[in-house]
Amino acid sequence: MSERAAPFYCPYCGDEDLRPSEQGHGAWECAACNRAFQLKFLGLLSRGVRQEEHGGAEI
Ligand SMILES: [Zn+2]
Repeated sequence: MSERAAPFYCPYCGDEDLRPSEQGHGAWECAACNRAFQLKFLGLLSRGVRQEEHGGAEI
């Protein structure tokens, strides 16, 4: 998993004109709505990664 998460769209206006902010790590600025926001990785969910159920034949 990459340490740096880059958003593709502004969570507020949906625009794609995002640029890294100098506010700090994970901070982004939206040029369309002039908002600054920060992405933060909170950790893995306690329920874990859901296993995909495969319809393959059992041995
Ligand atoms: Zn925006």
